[in-house]
Amino acid sequence: MPPIPGSGLAKGLAVTLRTMTKRTVTAQYPDVQPELPPRSRGVIGLFEENCTVCMLCARECPDWCIYIDSHKETVPPAAPGGRERSRNVLDRFAIDFALCMYCGICIEVCPFDALFWSPEFEYAETDIHELTHERDKLREWMWTVPEPPALDPGAEEPKEIAAARKTADKLQAQEERVAQEAREAQGAQPGKEAQSGQAAEQEGQE
Ligand code: SF4
Ligand code: SF4
Repeated sequence: MPPIPGSGLAKGLAVTLRTMTKRTVTAQYPDVQPELPPRSRGVIGLFEENCTVCMLCARECPDWCIYIDSHKETVPPAAPGGRERSRNVLDRFAIDFALCMYCGICIEVCPFDALFWSPEFEYAETDIHELTHERDKLREWMWTVPEPPALDPGAEEPKEIAAARKTADKLQAQEERVAQEAREAQGAQPGKEAQSGQAAEQEGQE
């Protein structure tokens, strides 16, 4: 049977009317930033203060796209009579994001919490060579890493926080002791002055 003239137009209008009333799902990026899930794998941030140059991340990376250079430095003994120690100093830490497959193995294996996922994703380049990012850039991304989610109620306090709290309490107690000693010393001073004043008065009367 030949198609009824104008039926195509009617079908098209029906589709238009149906979709006109539905909520739009088009993301207006870059005018509107997308709402990303909290654990998005955008880019890797480096907290280099925590990095001990153990090389575990570079060794475990399946793509061999982490480049680390370092040198050794001798550290003087902590106490007199102690032994000198040597430590690794980071010279270069770079990740080639043209090779990275975002598997997260480097972040998982880092024993010192120096690598983190950041949701930052706006680092596209027109030249593939510019996708190798050095430590300064990785450090900038570190500040875009979201805070970890709150612990479950009743969960054990992480040992790092417990240790930091212990140190902070110790420092506060020390500061309070010093302030108390200073207050006591100040309190003793006027007494002495008063005593010397009385002695001078007595001498004058004599
Ligand atoms: S996410 Fe995976 S591929 Fe990318 S640097 Fe880390 S270990 Fe290598
Ligand atoms: S595994 Fe962690 S501590 Fe070791 S080199 Fe990599 S980032 Fe640094």
